[in-house]
Amino acid sequence: MSSDTPNDLSLHPESLAIRAGRETSQFRENSQSLYLTSSFTFDSAEQAAAMFLGELDGYTYSRFTNPTVTAFQQRLAVLEGGERAIATATGMAAIQAIMMSMLKAGDHILSSRSLFGSITNLFANLLSKFGVETTFVDGTDMQAWQQGVRPNTKLLFLETPSNPLTEIVDVTAVAELAHAHGALLVVDNSFCSPALQQPLKLGADLVMHSATKFLDGQGRVMGGAVVGSDALIEQVYLHVRTAGPSLSPFNAWVLLSGLETLFVRMEKQCANALELARWLESQPMVERVYYPGLPSHPQYELAKRQQRSGGAVLAFVLKGGRSAAWQVVDGVQMISRTANVGDVKSTITHPASTTHARISAEARQAAGIVEGLVRVAVGLEHVNDLKQDLARSLV
Ligand SMILES: *Cc1c(COP(=O)(O)O)cnc(C)c1O
Repeated sequence: MSSDTPNDLSLHPESLAIRAGRETSQFRENSQSLYLTSSFTFDSAEQAAAMFLGELDGYTYSRFTNPTVTAFQQRLAVLEGGERAIATATGMAAIQAIMMSMLKAGDHILSSRSLFGSITNLFANLLSKFGVETTFVDGTDMQAWQQGVRPNTKLLFLETPSNPLTEIVDVTAVAELAHAHGALLVVDNSFCSPALQQPLKLGADLVMHSATKFLDGQGRVMGGAVVGSDALIEQVYLHVRTAGPSLSPFNAWVLLSGLETLFVRMEKQCANALELARWLESQPMVERVYYPGLPSHPQYELAKRQQRSGGAVLAFVLKGGRSAAWQVVDGVQMISRTANVGDVKSTITHPASTTHARISAEARQAAGIVEGLVRVAVGLEHVNDLKQDLARSLV
């Protein structure tokens, strides 16, 4: 087996997204092969022993490593500017693997509070059972971050932009705070992808992904990944190979082809989102638009510094509360009514009654998830068709 030069960093990221990490067999196929095998054979008992001990590099069992999964890991590591990546079955498996490998009972997590719902649940209700406590702070408030640090804080966690209100957290500032206290910073980069933002270059120690979203890009498979230094990823890898939240080779193969189109998809989806956001801002029934690419966004300047563009997810508040919001969600004929994001097919959802329905009404209100809020994850359809689909119930 041979591979393209995965670390030829003289290539542009757009080229690396297509070329890095590709491994070819003796048949010299031009696309990445799918190695659907659970185990690998050995020439001798001695070779098997050396590989199981890790004295000899090679493939033994696909829970540990698999060539298709390795190709995905190498490509993503290069795109994020990390030394190494480990792939997982889902984004949640990636977070779990980070927490289980980096923390122990008695440790404390300090996290931004606007998180993907299952992450909040993992921190508050599952990790707490194992003696790991989490404090949640307003991610946009540096003073709150500073005041939240405790002597036993081992890990800071953030998601930027947040979902659905697109709050931007200053990765560089939070990284400095983490390092001043000897803690690690982990950033969830699922919403921007490495095409728009490279948190490791801003000071984060680990980046995690729900590969289910923009990395796949077509809403086909579940997947996750963690990227960082060799030393940190080795610890996460040891957890994954033992506990088993490993990525399936088939899903890695789908995700590799997803990465090939990541940059063009993101560029066009972000352009569509910006145009849609501007148009929504001019609609009389729309009270407010949340989109980091609009000058009206409270953190427009920070977003411009930190991200290559505003991203492909926006939210807006309708005058008229829940009934007006449901009317827009029910009115679309093309856009998919589903909570997923990152798909080339645009999606629409009402956060207060779906993704954020399980938190109390007071907590929702405090977090800005008001009844009139609608979130759109913008895809690749023609932007005029997107406008027309939303306009059905906006005028
Ligand atoms: C979807 C998502 C996750 C969880 O990923 P799964 O692949 O669904 O397990 C984590 N973080 C963010 C920001 C997400 O959007």
